[in-house]
Amino acid sequence: MKDDSTFACPHCGAELPARAKFCRHCGSSDEDGWKTESDELDADDDFDYDEYVREEFSENTVVSSKLKTWQIVVILLILGSMSLWVLG
Ligand SMILES: [Zn+2]
Repeated sequence: MKDDSTFACPHCGAELPARAKFCRHCGSSDEDGWKTESDELDADDDFDYDEYVREEFSENTVVSSKLKTWQIVVILLILGSMSLWVLG
């Protein structure tokens, strides 16, 4: 049975088998996001490492870690008062 599911190469529009890992027409591949070598170089230039770090270690991350510490303190207090209640 023929597997006739295909998709158009995002780069050059050639019809490729759905499971194709690369385009035999323009050479772009699934691994590099269907870009040409020049496109890939542009993407590397556009990659903003500072922005990446800012997003990874944003204020939200700090707040959530502070919140977790605060929650742990509350849980310890609750457990402490519960054990006092049980033992008392
Ligand atoms: Zn192509």
